[in-house]
Amino acid sequence: MSTNSVEALARANVRALTPYQSARRLGGNGDVWLNANEYPLAVPFDLSQQTLNRYPECQPKLVIERYAAYAGLNADQVLVSRGADEGIELLMRAFCEPGKDAVLFCPPTYGMYSVSAETIGVEYRTVEAREDWQLNLSGIAEQLDGVKLVYVCSPNNPTGNLINPDDFRELLEMTRGKALLVADEAYIEFCPQASLAGWLKDYPHLVVLRTLSKAFALAGLRCGFTLANAEVIALLMKVIAPYPLSTPVADIAGQALSDEGIALMREHVGQLIANREKLIADLRQCDCVEEVFNSETNYILARFTASSQVFKTLWDQGIILRDQNKQPGLSGCLRISIGTREECDRVISALKSLPGATVPQEQA
Ligand SMILES: *Cc1c(COP(=O)(O)O)cnc(C)c1O
Repeated sequence: MSTNSVEALARANVRALTPYQSARRLGGNGDVWLNANEYPLAVPFDLSQQTLNRYPECQPKLVIERYAAYAGLNADQVLVSRGADEGIELLMRAFCEPGKDAVLFCPPTYGMYSVSAETIGVEYRTVEAREDWQLNLSGIAEQLDGVKLVYVCSPNNPTGNLINPDDFRELLEMTRGKALLVADEAYIEFCPQASLAGWLKDYPHLVVLRTLSKAFALAGLRCGFTLANAEVIALLMKVIAPYPLSTPVADIAGQALSDEGIALMREHVGQLIANREKLIADLRQCDCVEEVFNSETNYILARFTASSQVFKTLWDQGIILRDQNKQPGLSGCLRISIGTREECDRVISALKSLPGATVPQEQA
């Protein structure tokens, strides 16, 4: 059978699919990696389990109990999975009938909501955020027919802002009995007071996504959490793989969620926030920077006078940023993850050598 005929056997939506352009897939030969919102330094762990001959627990008890305590919830309100990305997809698989139901989200935002929907063959609708990057609530209300899941990222990737709590309340009333509201809190450790986890008792249709990939410095571990009421968790348990986490992953996740692990994470968050505020101030002094947006996260979005030139100049110096120029409303914008103080300084010294808006702009 020729390659072409095998291609023809694939599902039409898979043939048409553009895979998620992860920072790792995009490559580059950098030594300053500021494109994936990772923690800049590795946190050391030792494996304590020597039981690899046995299958792991589906939902490792210690990990669930520790995350529940950390989030202020009961164990039956927590599901652990292969990253928050798996949580995004499990929700679609449990709640959306392909070809019938839809999901909705509000660009500019995280790219995996559309990729998961396309992979599964579920329709997705978008309602662009307002100019201030808050929700267009009346626009969402008009599009809700047939929608089962509304994904709202707060703080939002890549813009860095929180969604107004009053708007969340209104959206929760709008969706009650019709759809689940999924609050993606991948970066909530950088602004913990803004979490909606405490609202679960009031809203049976609220879901909160969390991860160990960002503030916990464990992107390579692939471990995330879905927080929801027990009824929702029980439905997700029907569609999750029998062994979603390997034994080493559960082992390390348990350690990361110990009292010492959580204290270390909070220390890291404090350092990154200090680096972020200095980087914001320094960026505002650079001629090639048009606007720097405030951030509640471990990254900064900035608009440049010639963003493709800036991106390439830094790339050639081994500093890898994330181009957000193609997202609606983000022309000229690059996203910069907060690295070590030295890495932030490398960014600034590279940008200082670049001209401002008076020089003719290069169009890539
Ligand atoms: C990084 C990220 C995720 C994915 O987290 P993983 O646990 O690494 O899969 C989910 N949502 C947003 C908004 C993210 O930025």
